[in-house]
Amino acid sequence: MSSSSEQNIARYLGIHRVIEPRGTLPQPAWKLDNTPSVYPTETLIDVQKLHIDSASFTQIAKVCERDTERMSKHILDIVSQRGKMHNPVTGSGGVLLGTVEQVDEDFAQEHHLTGGDAIVSLTSLSWLPLSLRRIHKIHLDRAEVEVEGKAIFFRSNPLAKLPHDLQQALVVAALDVAGAPARVATLAQAGQQVTVLGAGGTAGLLTLCALRQKIGSNGMIIALEYSEKALQDIIDLGVADVVVQADATHPLDAIEQVRHVYPAHDYQADLTVNVVNVPGTEFATILLTKPDGRILFFSMATSFTTAALGAEGMARQVEMHIGNGYMRDCGSVALQLLRDYPALRAIFTKRFGTAV
Ligand code: NAP
Repeated sequence: MSSSSEQNIARYLGIHRVIEPRGTLPQPAWKLDNTPSVYPTETLIDVQKLHIDSASFTQIAKVCERDTERMSKHILDIVSQRGKMHNPVTGSGGVLLGTVEQVDEDFAQEHHLTGGDAIVSLTSLSWLPLSLRRIHKIHLDRAEVEVEGKAIFFRSNPLAKLPHDLQQALVVAALDVAGAPARVATLAQAGQQVTVLGAGGTAGLLTLCALRQKIGSNGMIIALEYSEKALQDIIDLGVADVVVQADATHPLDAIEQVRHVYPAHDYQADLTVNVVNVPGTEFATILLTKPDGRILFFSMATSFTTAALGAEGMARQVEMHIGNGYMRDCGSVALQLLRDYPALRAIFTKRFGTAV
């Protein structure tokens, strides 16, 4: 590779902003240069809010005993030490909301952006140089931090424009898991039988709606969920054909429950989507899928080793997809589902909405 094309890739990814250790990518780097003015190929965002990811926010709230003044100081310390909001304990980031201040021409063309557009990052905060002047307020109930700051986007970093017709908190919740419904829509086929594990969660509810649209009325959706509250939401959504209460960490029980609720039918699906939030559900996922079926492991708690060796031990030639959260639609599939399904919007409003 010529040194000029290496340089182009480095700039595209943002490696030129890495201070420590040199040569690594911005996400795993310990420290980034967060100077709030743009070099060529960069885009500057005026940042108004951070939505810190749940694992990170919970950890910070815990060490600061939910004292928002201490939490503010803790967050400002992380950002000044690392040049990004990358929690060193959890390794996770979150997303930001802001407006476009100065935009790189290529980036503007790719994302149809102009100065002043309101955006939400689809790139983790752990990748983006960030500088904070101050923190105005922390909302403990929704992991939201109101700030005054600047962030840098590189050409490789996806983002979405905030629509005007949906409440911001709903948009952020949907965009966090937008890869699930968008990917499911590319994997499912009309008339198929599909099972969703963790169907009552954020990703699960969006996935159920995406499936209904894709597989049509001849297809069959089996929604498996553990929590009582989430089960009721699945029923209220009215999209799944079969609703099963089961614990996906107990594979044989899960099969039994599906067979009990859906007797005289094959309990194995053409496609199974795993959107649970706990580890240990790989075996149930594989066993609930036809031997030559497909699986989408979207859950971050999935073990690649367990899934691969598990399928091997059960002689299943099942096709397994890892839930890469990025899809080219940049969240538009998920947001359209919120518009198409009023019952979905109502559940999201109940869970994430703010008083208007
Ligand atoms: P969520 O809202 O917490 O949904 C998970 C659902 O699974 C909840 O309803 C939960 O019930 C249920 N569940 C928990 N344990 C279960 C069990 N043993 N059996 C059956 N159901 C069970 O989470 P989410 O925001 O939709 O995210 C889902 C997953 O996607 C997470 O693992 C997340 O990390 C991952 N994710 C992946 C990407 C990616 O790029 N691949 C991006 C974002 C998120 P309870 O309410 O009882 O807990």
